Amino acid sequence: MLPSYPVPVPVNEPIKSYAPGTPERASLKAKLAELRSGHAEIPLFINGEECAGASSRKAVMPHNHAHVLGECQLAGPDEGQRAIDGAMQALPEWSSMPFEDRAAIFLKAADLLSGPFRDEINAATMLAQSKTAFQAEIDAACELADFLRFNVYYARRIYDEQPISSEGMWNRLEYRGLEGFTFAVSPFNFTSIGGNLPTSPILMGGVSIWKPATTAIYSNWVFMKILREAGLPAGVLQFLPFPGGSLSDLLMKHPSMAGIHFTGSTEVFEGFWKTVGENIRGYRNYPRIVGETGGKDFVFAHSSSDTTALATALVRGAFEYQGQKCSAASRAYIPESLWPAVRQEMESQLAEIRMGDPEDFGNFLNAVIDARAFASIRGYIEQAKDSADAEILFGGGCDDTTGYFIEPTVIQAKKPDFLTMREEIFGPVLTVFVYKDKDFEETLKIADSTSEYALTGAVFGRDRAAVRQASLALKNAAGNFYVNDKPTGAVVGQQPFGGGRKSGTNDKAGSMYNLLRWCNIRTVKETAVPARHFAYPFLSSED
Ligand code: NAD
Repeated sequence: MLPSYPVPVPVNEPIKSYAPGTPERASLKAKLAELRSGHAEIPLFINGEECAGASSRKAVMPHNHAHVLGECQLAGPDEGQRAIDGAMQALPEWSSMPFEDRAAIFLKAADLLSGPFRDEINAATMLAQSKTAFQAEIDAACELADFLRFNVYYARRIYDEQPISSEGMWNRLEYRGLEGFTFAVSPFNFTSIGGNLPTSPILMGGVSIWKPATTAIYSNWVFMKILREAGLPAGVLQFLPFPGGSLSDLLMKHPSMAGIHFTGSTEVFEGFWKTVGENIRGYRNYPRIVGETGGKDFVFAHSSSDTTALATALVRGAFEYQGQKCSAASRAYIPESLWPAVRQEMESQLAEIRMGDPEDFGNFLNAVIDARAFASIRGYIEQAKDSADAEILFGGGCDDTTGYFIEPTVIQAKKPDFLTMREEIFGPVLTVFVYKDKDFEETLKIADSTSEYALTGAVFGRDRAAVRQASLALKNAAGNFYVNDKPTGAVVGQQPFGGGRKSGTNDKAGSMYNLLRWCNIRTVKETAVPARHFAYPFLSSED
């Protein structure tokens, strides 16, 4: 349905500071205490109703894993089938609903999220995903509200893109939603991505089945409640947590599976793509496959860099949210001439960092998400400790007695292709390679080819020619490229996000380009006065 009205021009949700004495700090602390001492029962949400699943799992705090926040229901095959059937039943009415009505639901959801539900979604994200108040605020409250508001605005702009019409006809494009359901599978690390993946396709008139990450169900359920409150009709979005791949075949091999909207690891995404390929004859439509995946994000410094700004970008870029951002700086290339100053500044800043429970607002770092992540990250640190090709310069300590804590760790690699320069670790580990200043050009080539990913990257330098040279040499090494800034913290509407190579399909979350993938365009040509006989003038005889 084409919209007839303009929509509000979005602005980014202002970030609250949570500084001592502010009202937001007091109300967030009260909500944290309430959720911590409560026990939430988190249901599935199918066809507009809360329901039980076939099994359940506990929601715990990563920084205190003995503390149970609630019980989360997990779907089995029966619930999976009901979710598919209900979504397909909801599709015809939803896809014919005027855009204004669809948009109004998402705009209302954004206001509920940034207003009455703000503390709840932030507190849930802090407790169950172990984020600081600031990291939760920029993710769960601000970025998710931005996704909702900007997507409405971008959808409207897409609808405005129309063909020309020659005399006697009227041509138009109908931006229909997908004729089937989108399987939205989200990661643990951003509550906002959890909310964006299933809602982008439904904003465009489709329906979604949402499988949140099992460690993020607690906060993702808060968003599902917001959508219900905002008036989303039953069946349009099915909230269907289930363990790992257990229901993937049921959903992914269904003839009505029309799209996959995924964010997570490269390995899981490649498994999805393979399943779709193997089942290609079985679908009614060729499924849209959109996936944003892993990263091995770099900071490349030229010898003209400001060393304090560089060291600060490394500390923030590598360690905020324990390095569990797909965009986190995890390898750095520093010229020999700057290394002593950069190292000293980093060590002095790192020495100030405190790690612990997010309810203590003085902590800059919290715990990593779960036992599996802890074991994997510790494995990389152990390998660096045992290798003659690497040296741990800072941190390296791991302790999971109470929570899954890993110290911010800086490794110096003696070879540019050392393991931790190549593979995604997804934890608070930064590996530095120190290069000879004269090898700037050669080292750029190495940085471009060391890892299979191409998500984010940053170049530092005051020398403009050097910055230009690095930008060209690393042209395909990052989908989001930063000059004199850390490679994290993309903002909806300002830095559309996504990468190439093995980092994903680069459809740019939080942009028109992503929303276009959820449109199934019908071209309509309407003729005012149609021809009444087949013959063209050229057929007439010459005399
Ligand atoms: P993950 O791949 O382990 O899990 C992602 C989602 O897939 C989860 O919901 C998980 O339960 C589900 N899953 C796993 N196996 C499945 C299967 N066989 N069938 C169906 N679902 C399955 O990733 P994660 O640990 O949640 O998140 C970390 C990863 O996500 C990192 O690699 C990170 O780089 C990436 N990430 C990328 C971006 C981006 O924009 N590029 C953003 C955030 C996270």
